[in-house]
Amino acid sequence: MSELIWFKGGRIAAEDSAKLEQLDVLVEGGKIIRVAEEVKAPEGAEVVDCEGCVIAPAMFDVHVHAREPGREDKETIETCSEAAINGGVTGMVLMPNTLPAIDSGGLVQSVLDIAAEKSRIPIWQSGCITKGRAGKELAGIAGMKSKGVPVITDDGDSVADPMVLLRAMQYAKRFDLILAMHCEVKELSGFGAMNEGVVSYRLGIPGIPACSEEICLDRDIRLAQYTGARVHIQHVTSARGMETIRRFKEEGVKVTCEVTPHHLLFNEEHIGDYDTHYKMNPPLRTQKDNELLLQALIDGVFDVIATDHAPHTEFEKNSDFVSAPFGITGLDTALVSLYHHYVKTGIFGWDLLVKRYSAEPRRLTNLEPVPVVEGGVAELIVFDPNRKTKFTRDFMKSKSSNTPFLDQELDGQIISVIRDGEFLLNR
Ligand SMILES: [Zn+2]
Repeated sequence: MSELIWFKGGRIAAEDSAKLEQLDVLVEGGKIIRVAEEVKAPEGAEVVDCEGCVIAPAMFDVHVHAREPGREDKETIETCSEAAINGGVTGMVLMPNTLPAIDSGGLVQSVLDIAAEKSRIPIWQSGCITKGRAGKELAGIAGMKSKGVPVITDDGDSVADPMVLLRAMQYAKRFDLILAMHCEVKELSGFGAMNEGVVSYRLGIPGIPACSEEICLDRDIRLAQYTGARVHIQHVTSARGMETIRRFKEEGVKVTCEVTPHHLLFNEEHIGDYDTHYKMNPPLRTQKDNELLLQALIDGVFDVIATDHAPHTEFEKNSDFVSAPFGITGLDTALVSLYHHYVKTGIFGWDLLVKRYSAEPRRLTNLEPVPVVEGGVAELIVFDPNRKTKFTRDFMKSKSSNTPFLDQELDGQIISVIRDGEFLLNR
């Protein structure tokens, strides 16, 4: 492979510019050495014809379930990282709800050791807030911090006891650690399997009311306001919950939040004939929620887009709607699906996509963004809007294919992913 790579004739996407400028990009050994109109490429440069393509900073996902250790039948760190690359993602934060749950420095290290051997992209492991995610005692937070966790979270569950959470916040604040909160009042969710409302009544499926999420989210932010800790609200689904976050942000509370592609794109009506590819927790809400969440993303209420990539085996997802596990995969599909539904249609631009799925997720993880600028690191993707992507089982790199996009064909394709001077993907 050539040391020099010449990206010729692409249009550059940036978080702070709605306009895509047509410029050549010259990369040498992992660095962007020149960005200009019609670069004179030196001899021996490898040419990537980017005519008609978009060159964008590579994406970063702060909410991923890699299932290793414990459920390697669903996903491994290796297959998860390959799914990420396939989706234009070159870094991610793994959730700690594995078997065992990652609640000590030693366990964090064991995951990082696997990642160092098996993953072609860097991985950050988050740690639990409470031991074993049981909600009773604080996990080994200091030890996990020393191993570099950027975030602590009991994701999959909320921290039910407010006093335990308050202590966790006071403690985490000393380490400047973010607490990422899955918001749910378990007593209200009960055995619910989808959003509670007319559709759940019609289908005869027990419901999870939106207030289960809204009450917990409100409580968590109030505790953050009281303790001065930094909280990040995960996978917001309800417009009313989002409005709560908007209000607290306006008051200056240190709260950030995320929205998933599926909570923007889908709602309870998509469940149709009990399709378990639309079962996740928190659940898909209503079409009105879709519209208001999308508007909030455009308004800047949501700091980041994150997939909540949650692989499950076909066997599990093939069971009846109430018994099937919550969650869908997202790494392979997120960028193309967001392009297809929102960028191509002019609802928002590449600038929003870059800001919310590349730059801000890195900042949230205490990393520098990777803009395509002279002197910057070459961590970028080439995206061809004129090609299509069909999400067949073979195309996707995740070990699981529990996604509503299975066998769908969408506009746009990621044709190259570059990191550290190397092609991670080149179609
Ligand atoms: Zn969650």
